[in-house]
Amino acid sequence: MNAYRVSARILKVLAHPTRVRLLYALRDSEECVCHLTALLRQRQAYVSQQLMFLRRAGLLIERKDGLRVYYRVKDARVFDVLDAANALAGITRAPSERKKIVACPCPKCVRARNDAKEREKTRKALSR
Ligand SMILES: [Zn+2]
Repeated sequence: MNAYRVSARILKVLAHPTRVRLLYALRDSEECVCHLTALLRQRQAYVSQQLMFLRRAGLLIERKDGLRVYYRVKDARVFDVLDAANALAGITRAPSERKKIVACPCPKCVRARNDAKEREKTRKALSR
């Protein structure tokens, strides 16, 4: 495959709003499929399919931990491409996907909710 085809293949995978959103959601940390499904409010089969396209293009790495599959960005230079596309479109601030998800069953979100409950308990105890 020549260089034009190789770069076109990567750009083709990036040319999809859901896949761009998934990459931004993975910008700072790895996440499991259930977290990404809760974040995007899409069916898990659909989210998994988009993640598979990104992985096959060499943009994501997957890691299995028990029944959960975690994804992370393989090479952060992909954000140079996305940030450049934003700049060309006049978008100066990169989108952020760091949101609290109330109904997410992933270990990270469960831990965050438990920590928040503990802090609230401590706060109440101290204010008595
Ligand atoms: Zn989560």
